[in-house]
Amino acid sequence: MDDSALPEMPSHLRELIFPQQCPDKCFACAFVKRNLVHKLVRDKHLKNLQSLTNVSHVNTEHIIPFNSVACTIIRIKVYAKGDSPQLSVRLVLKTLNIQHQQVEVILKSFMSEVAFYNIVAKLLYIFPRSHFVFPKCYLDSFQWMDDGPPYIVLEDLIADGYEQFDDKLDENHLKAVFKHLGMFHGDSIRLVTNERFDSKSNFSKLMKNDTLIANKDQIMIKQKEAISAFLNNSLIEAVNSGIRDKIRTKLEKVKDLEKSNISLVHGSLTRYKTFYKQCNGECKIKFIGFKTIMLSSPVIDFGRILFTNLPNENDVSKLEEFCRNILEIYLKQIELSCSEMVQCVERQIIDNLLFSYVSLDTKESEAIENHIPILNMLNSLGSLD
Ligand SMILES: [Zn+2]
Repeated sequence: MDDSALPEMPSHLRELIFPQQCPDKCFACAFVKRNLVHKLVRDKHLKNLQSLTNVSHVNTEHIIPFNSVACTIIRIKVYAKGDSPQLSVRLVLKTLNIQHQQVEVILKSFMSEVAFYNIVAKLLYIFPRSHFVFPKCYLDSFQWMDDGPPYIVLEDLIADGYEQFDDKLDENHLKAVFKHLGMFHGDSIRLVTNERFDSKSNFSKLMKNDTLIANKDQIMIKQKEAISAFLNNSLIEAVNSGIRDKIRTKLEKVKDLEKSNISLVHGSLTRYKTFYKQCNGECKIKFIGFKTIMLSSPVIDFGRILFTNLPNENDVSKLEEFCRNILEIYLKQIELSCSEMVQCVERQIIDNLLFSYVSLDTKESEAIENHIPILNMLNSLGSLD
């Protein structure tokens, strides 16, 4: 993209470079005003705005991101000129906070997210259902002009009526999440197994990218630590000895998961990265935060969302029925994308659910009250064999 072709900034916009909401006069707000709005107008992403002279004003507002101040997230509102200026479009800019001390560390993982929107999402859009599972990305760049940090410009889900889950999901919402997760994984598996994406494609290059491999290595290291912590946990002494032996034997086979690179997975899917919206009696779901995107086993996403939202039920057969229902909803979507892979995905999920369970972080694990019924349920499902 040739930035030198950007038009001169009209004076009425130049005066508004730093909004009141940004007391630090940050680089990101300045970037929005100085460059981004030009690009959006030029690429016709702003409704009814053919040129910058039609722009009345631009508002920026910082959103404090969950768990992270290393990323700067800004809600952008662009207004069109008129007797009473009209809101033309609302977007979200996500970039790095270059003043943050750990910006170098975050840079790598943020690049994965930019790569997701720049390469992977565009490929997934070949399949119509993928349009529903993540926000539309209007612009992305591996760097700003003048060597600034990378950024993405996404649709503003909140402006579009979506809400963020902030508590344990109820059964209906959980089913909707698994339906959409099945769409994402199903299309990803179809993409990964599609012969058209030969070894020279951007996608193949991306899959061999250091950052994505680093994401995976990190998960494997964490998983091995989690397994040894779990084996030393008093919890394991509380299950009956037959199941305890099966768990120990199973956990020794952790290497199995390393070979199961069948799908693109989100890698750190939690309810906070999941948005929902009721629409014509249906619950739509969108996932965000793809900085740990990697090629791995779908159980990584499936297990985390399942275990962190399971009902606090002590009846093992009821728990099993609940999980089988969820699995069925998910697999139905896999079947719609790639019917030949359904059995393979089902086997991978069942086979690896225990690894997913022990990989929950301390906070997630502490929120679960029915650990023993869950371990017994995994035995009934066949996950310990
Ligand atoms: Zn700012």
